[in-house]
Amino acid sequence: MAVTRTFSIIKPDATRRNLTGAVTKMLEDAGLRVVASKRIRMSREQAEGFYAVHKERPFFGELCEFMTSGPVVVQVLEGEDAVKRNRDVMGATNPANAEPGTIRKELAESIEANTVHGSDSDENAKIEIAFFFSPGEIVG
Ligand code: GDP
Repeated sequence: MAVTRTFSIIKPDATRRNLTGAVTKMLEDAGLRVVASKRIRMSREQAEGFYAVHKERPFFGELCEFMTSGPVVVQVLEGEDAVKRNRDVMGATNPANAEPGTIRKELAESIEANTVHGSDSDENAKIEIAFFFSPGEIVG
């Protein structure tokens, strides 16, 4: 299996509850390595750009409001089959449907305040990483 990279966000519900370390530990225990990380306050423009694929969905405005409501931690994660590995440990979008032991089942507050973002394909991972990081900020 190839070592690949994915993009992760620890969302405002998690930073508010001081869960940056707890989430990162679950990612690391799942076999992912943090090769870049920074805590930022996303601007409205960044949130709307990042979630542009969702702009027709009814929750788009609320989602952008939530993602700018507090600090987030953006990360690049590396590991074997990183996109799938990360999606597996994240759990389903709605924590009510997530498997026990996943980040969202154990930590998420709601379908919106669901603690983590993770890229859904290698192609999107590359786009999302480039949205927040320059190559020199990623140290594998
Ligand atoms: P993900 O890939 O599992 O994060 O899910 P999606 O790409 O479908 O949705 C992106 C994000 O939008 C989710 O992680 C949630 O934060 C939010 N979201 C998804 N569905 C809903 C919804 O029905 N209502 C609200 N308010 N937010 C949602």
